[in-house]
Amino acid sequence: MIHKNFKSIEKTVFGRGSFNQLDEIIAPKRNDNNKYFIFIVDNYFKGKSLENRLQNKPEDIVYFIDVDPHEPTTEQIDQLRDEILATKGLPSGVIGIGGGSIMDIAKALSLMLCNEGPSQQYQGLNLIQKPGVYHVGVPTISGTGAECSMTAVLTGPEKKLGLKCEWTIFDQIILDSELTASVPVDKWFYTGMDTFIHCIESRDGILNNAYSMAYGEQSIKLCRDIYLGENAGQSPENDDKLMVASLMGGLSLTYSEVGVCHALSYGLSKIFGEKHCYANCLAFQHLDDYYPEGVAEFNTMLKKHNINLPQGLSKNWTDAEITAMAHVAYNLPHMWNHAIGTDWKDKVSIETIENLFRRM
Ligand code: NAD
Ligand code: ZN
Repeated sequence: MIHKNFKSIEKTVFGRGSFNQLDEIIAPKRNDNNKYFIFIVDNYFKGKSLENRLQNKPEDIVYFIDVDPHEPTTEQIDQLRDEILATKGLPSGVIGIGGGSIMDIAKALSLMLCNEGPSQQYQGLNLIQKPGVYHVGVPTISGTGAECSMTAVLTGPEKKLGLKCEWTIFDQIILDSELTASVPVDKWFYTGMDTFIHCIESRDGILNNAYSMAYGEQSIKLCRDIYLGENAGQSPENDDKLMVASLMGGLSLTYSEVGVCHALSYGLSKIFGEKHCYANCLAFQHLDDYYPEGVAEFNTMLKKHNINLPQGLSKNWTDAEITAMAHVAYNLPHMWNHAIGTDWKDKVSIETIENLFRRM
């Protein structure tokens, strides 16, 4: 057995208002390369007070990106990279301010600024040839763990798969939960549940170990406080907790693995373009025979926050669509291996997975 040996984020600052330290944090890097920074900011913040708090300098370039039409694509990254290199050359660094989508764009861009050709050719593990530029992640919605993961998930022409290597990991993250106060309740729920599901899947599988469990158990405990506790709901205190839960959930799965829900979720994203966290929720509610305890808690959380997930979706799906999703899910063998065991192929077929989709 090969034990996982991973790099961590270089520096982390945590605390309400810590975003104000951004300028001071990046100052020592301002002399690198062509002496300017790229800011990638969620378009939600255009015209909001955060736009005036970026601390950007006149030479910097700020991009506001709308993440709602689709998840980040390889084509989008290549275009951005080409445009930036053609206008001002190599920047000192890239700062991503937003959710999982924006952080993935910042991570991928940092790498692709230093690696030639289309990013699609680097989708996979350790395919990137050279380290990227300095990059900073500032999450504004908590849950995906993208702030700490070694992958920048991109949808390419052939597959949805990350640029995964040591250099993907942020050099610096700024965890300021004040920035998450404006997240609407439905997105707060779906993205937060990504963390909860990461921890359940990390725990309930063969790669679970004391190290991943320690992070995962703490993260689950925080999720229970936030979504089921006496003071459940969005509040400054719970926003702090969710930001930490997200980080710990990400670390838990990094040292273990995700499982059945994420495999199905990738199918929903690839075939119907469903967003990662929402797709997880669509799938997870029906997985009680794999994760009985986790699904029961999840359903209680749904009720408590009046979140209504659609039912009977599969009635409107064609057999061909269901088969296509099942193939996407089946082709994530590391997830099935973890969730079901090394003999998973004896227990799970394309048909088994099709039937899971038919429950939705
Ligand atoms: P997101 O970045 O897609 O944003 C979700 C929504 O929340 C958007 O509408 C956005 O505008 C809005 N939003 C963000 N911050 C806000 C704020 N402070 N106030 C109001 N609205 C705000 O969301 P996400 O769920 O964090 O990320 C999903 C993406 O992350 C997917 O593309 C998925 O593939 C990726 N992902 C990556 C990893 C990884 O390890 N790299 C892990 C899981 C998911
Ligand atoms: Zn996830």
